[in-house]
Amino acid sequence: MLEHDAIQSAVNDAYHSFGQETGGKNADYIPFLAGVDPSLSGLAVVTAKGDIFTAGDTAYRFAIESISKVCTLALALEDFDPQTIQQKIGADPTGLPFNSVMALELHGDKPLSPLVNAGAMATTSLVKASSAEERWQRILKMQQRLTSSQVAISDELNQSEQTTNFHNKGIAWLLYSAGFMYSDPMEACDVYTRQCSTLLNTVELATLGATIASGGRNPVTNEQVLTAANCPAILAEMTMEGMYDSSGDWAYTVGLPGKSGVGGGILTIAPGKLAIAAFSPPLDPVGNSVRGQKMAAAVAQALKLNLYQC
Ligand code: GLU
Repeated sequence: MLEHDAIQSAVNDAYHSFGQETGGKNADYIPFLAGVDPSLSGLAVVTAKGDIFTAGDTAYRFAIESISKVCTLALALEDFDPQTIQQKIGADPTGLPFNSVMALELHGDKPLSPLVNAGAMATTSLVKASSAEERWQRILKMQQRLTSSQVAISDELNQSEQTTNFHNKGIAWLLYSAGFMYSDPMEACDVYTRQCSTLLNTVELATLGATIASGGRNPVTNEQVLTAANCPAILAEMTMEGMYDSSGDWAYTVGLPGKSGVGGGILTIAPGKLAIAAFSPPLDPVGNSVRGQKMAAAVAQALKLNLYQC
C-alpha cells in the first residue's frame, strides 16, 4: 500500500527537480500549440481509490491531442471486443513516427496500432454511430466519463487543426482505398480532429488514467465506465505505441504503459494502483513532453512502480 505522504513527496520532488527543466520545443505544425506558454508545468497523481496529489500548474487546461486516442480506443472496445480491434486495426508498434505513411506501406496498409494517426482515424471510424455528429458526441461523452469532467472542444484549436490537417486527410484516403476505413474517410478525419481538440487539465488526465488503472471504474464518480476485461488491451496498446517511437525506451526505463500527446500531456498508468499525469508544452524530437517525461518517470521510480521489477 502506497502511503499518502510518500505519494505527495514523490510528486513534490519530481516537480521541483524537473518542472523547470530546459530543452524541447512546442509543437508548431498546429498553429494553436505554438502559442501555448512553454513555461507551464504540472504534475498529478490520482489513485485507484480516488485520492489526488498535485504540484504546479494543474488547473491549466491543455490540448488532449493524441491522448484522445486512448478514449476512442476504449469506446471502440466497448462497441466491439479486443479481437475485433486487433484484427481491424492491430496491436503492434510501427517503429515509425505517429503520422507515418511509410508505416502503412510497409505493413500492407494495416495501421497496426490505434495509437498512431492512421489507426486512430480507423478506430474513430469504427465507433458505432449513424452520423458524424452522433459519433463525435459518443466520443466526447466517453472523454467526459473517463475524466469525470465536462471536457469540451476548443473551437479555436479545432479550427487551427481542421485548416491544417492535410497530411491526416491523405492518410484517411489511403486507409479507405485499402479497406481499413469503416466510415466515410473525411468524416472520420473530421471527428478524429475534433476529438484531439478538447482541453483538459492534469488532474482530469490523471483521473482518466486512474479509471483504466482500476479496471474501468472511475474512482472519483464510482461509475463503471469501461468493461474491466477490456482494460488489459488498452494498457497493452499503450505499452506498444503510447510514447511514439520511444515507447520501447519508456517500457525499458519506466516500466509502465504510457501515452503522450503533442499538446504536452503525458499519462502513465500503474495497473491496480494509480495514474500519473504530467503536462508541459516543450516536446522532444519524437513528440513527448521533455519535462513531462522526466516528472512522470521520477514519480514512478520513487514509488517503485516498474511492472517488470520482480
Ligand atoms: N491532432 C494531432 C495530429 O493528428 C495529434 C497528434 C499527437 O498528439 O500525436 O497530428
